[in-house]
Amino acid sequence: MTNLDRRDFLRASTAAAVGLAGLLVPDYLNANVRNIVLSGNDGNLNVRNDQVIANGEISFNNDFSLEASPGLEIIDHPSPKRRTRANRLSTDFILLHTTEAPGSNSLNSLTRFGQANYVVDTNGDVYRIMNPKQISIGAGRSMWNGRTNLDNHAINIEFVGYHNERPTKKQLGNGRELIAELVKANPRINGEDIMPHSMVAYGRPNRWHDDSHRGRKRCGMLFAKEDIRKALGIGKAPKYDPDVDEGRLVVADRYLDEVLYEGRQPVPTSVEIADISDSPENAIATIKAGESVWAYAGREYADSTTTYFLPDGRVRRGDELEREDFNFDVIKPETRVATGYVFGGHISRNRSAYQVVGKRWNLPSTLYRLPDGKIITGEDVTERAIPNGTTILFRK
Ligand SMILES: [Zn+2]
Repeated sequence: MTNLDRRDFLRASTAAAVGLAGLLVPDYLNANVRNIVLSGNDGNLNVRNDQVIANGEISFNNDFSLEASPGLEIIDHPSPKRRTRANRLSTDFILLHTTEAPGSNSLNSLTRFGQANYVVDTNGDVYRIMNPKQISIGAGRSMWNGRTNLDNHAINIEFVGYHNERPTKKQLGNGRELIAELVKANPRINGEDIMPHSMVAYGRPNRWHDDSHRGRKRCGMLFAKEDIRKALGIGKAPKYDPDVDEGRLVVADRYLDEVLYEGRQPVPTSVEIADISDSPENAIATIKAGESVWAYAGREYADSTTTYFLPDGRVRRGDELEREDFNFDVIKPETRVATGYVFGGHISRNRSAYQVVGKRWNLPSTLYRLPDGKIITGEDVTERAIPNGTTILFRK
């Protein structure tokens, strides 16, 4: 961690610690206080203007009995992606993000690409970008407790702001109402299922990391902090990272880990952070002369979820090549490799995309490698116009 990071983090956490009474309670509380169950340590609670002053710790109950305020106005701000984007496979998570950019810039680009379901601006304005059940591409490469690609199962909420700055009071107030409404509509979502993006993002093996790793992003990391969660009316964050615990991932960003888990979790390795883009073209890397497969797939080089496009046109999984005694040390340049994807198969005259990968065919996370080598996602294909010989890869 750099000194700058630490300073920012300390500043944020100090503000959190000293600012409880002033920062915690949303404006709408005045009008709506009857609907909120507050439990102080001694039950002693005074409500005055927009502050709650309690003797001892204030804790909002986290069973979502909060009635959504009839006052929350959601501004519809439709993404052009509403016309084509598939619906989520299920709704089990809410992922919280920070835009890392100022308001109008963030809103416009998130809208253009359908990268959030909702955006909460610093003044508290809440925008709806996608239709309620539609996928937004907010999390990208992600994993939680062995489940991957959480965009297919999550509502993404972007808070305009930065990962190392507290959300504004208005953002917390209206964010609280928004989340309460979403939880009411999606009762499978529990408190621990509401997580910062950085908690679920992971990176694939690359030049810097031999293993798939946590710590690809710091997005929304302060949403793991207990006082901010209380202000949002949500329960505590998960106490540890199940994917690190069970060895699926290693920790690559010690600083992030400290913020998310307050140092509770043992840190198996520490290496520098590298943010690897999730664009479709980068998802299938091309091995150049003199480079080894290790730089692209790390320890996953022979996994069933690593797919090789060999220069002779064959497409093989890592585990298949290993069984064939393939020599991974002398891999030919221009071989292409994708890690973390399942090889679905090829499209032919008699085999449609739907027959190859089922309802995943039009997901934004599904990749199509066209016969000319171009790579596009499921949301950009037209089912009847996919050339024969196209290969489909999908995330688990
Ligand atoms: Zn994010």
